[in-house]
Amino acid sequence: MNTPINSKVYIKAINEYNVEQILEYYREIFELEPFKTKLEKTQYILLKPNMLGAHHPNKAVTTHPAILEAMIIYLKELDKKVVVGDSPGGIVTAESVWKATGFGEVCKRHKVELVNFGKNGIITKQINGTEYHFEKLIYEVDGIINLAKMKTHSLMLYTGCVKNFYGLIPGLYKSELHRQFPQPKDFAQVITNVYLHIKDKVLFNVLDGIVGMEGEGPSAGKPRAFNRLFISEIAPVNDYAASRMMGFKIEQIEYIKHLLNSLDLKIEDIQIEEAFKDEILTDVAIKEVIFRKRFLDSLPAALKKFFNRFFDYYPSFGDACIRCGVCVQSCPVKALRLDKDDQKPVLDKAKCIKCMCCHELCPIHAVSIKKSLVAKLFL
Ligand code: SF4
Ligand code: SF4
Repeated sequence: MNTPINSKVYIKAINEYNVEQILEYYREIFELEPFKTKLEKTQYILLKPNMLGAHHPNKAVTTHPAILEAMIIYLKELDKKVVVGDSPGGIVTAESVWKATGFGEVCKRHKVELVNFGKNGIITKQINGTEYHFEKLIYEVDGIINLAKMKTHSLMLYTGCVKNFYGLIPGLYKSELHRQFPQPKDFAQVITNVYLHIKDKVLFNVLDGIVGMEGEGPSAGKPRAFNRLFISEIAPVNDYAASRMMGFKIEQIEYIKHLLNSLDLKIEDIQIEEAFKDEILTDVAIKEVIFRKRFLDSLPAALKKFFNRFFDYYPSFGDACIRCGVCVQSCPVKALRLDKDDQKPVLDKAKCIKCMCCHELCPIHAVSIKKSLVAKLFL
């Protein structure tokens, strides 16, 4: 007989990154079942925060280091062997990410190994006819704890726990999947496949919404104090609760909806803590990403092609650009080059698949999303 899926979402109102307060909450929740038994059976644990790029914690692009630090302290109290790892997108160096995000400092302080995925080896798996390259370590540890960040996303609308596992695919292998699956619908399937492949290894999921992101996430939006920390055994129920709280409807976040269906889990079966069950946070900036997607999704294929020419949006490279070339190296379809005179990125619009990897990875947020006149009118 199949074990029923645990669809409970624990939520705590927390309005500052206080390690002691977060640790207290971990101690309270992980004493409960099934967390307690899972932890008792697990010795070697990988912590997977969101390490998207070299951004200071105040920018709310990456998981706050206090979330990681409290988890390390908690697991060390239980005598667990802990390792921390992720793979930033594109060519940005892991060392620069560890330094800027504060993860390097935390791991040093607690003598925990920090791993740049891909360096220790890769395991290739065939999933639905496509090759996925995963970090080898994920098959060596006994369990994984997900430490994700709650944000809007310019391509997928929302990003949190499920999408954080995309980082288990090292470096530019991520860009290659973006190239193969440029349409949001197909890319949603990629994210779903990654989660379904790894889910049995996942002990539980912590979603950092103490300060998350609204607007043009996942890296160029605005930090927003949601003042909420979420914990669940399975990733998509945390994402359902958080995206709903931001004002999204489940129909809009297709990959979460699809994943809940795949797990045979109905919305009405998701148990969100009573105090937060009906909570919708006020005025979260999600309208722009929703409207753009809704408009394009509503058009028949032929019209879509026609309208896309007018209702266009593409990356734009601002004056703040420091000519580091990260965006050029990270573009999966080579739609960017550095101008030979002023060394600024130049976009070939015909090649661009609008994956927004450049927007996500620019270390100083110099890439914005530029809209055509018609798009501006609608948005
Ligand atoms: S836009 Fe400029 S600063 Fe940003 S990644 Fe590209 S080259 Fe670097
Ligand atoms: S230039 Fe276009 S295709 Fe290249 S990374 Fe940016 S959005 Fe993606």
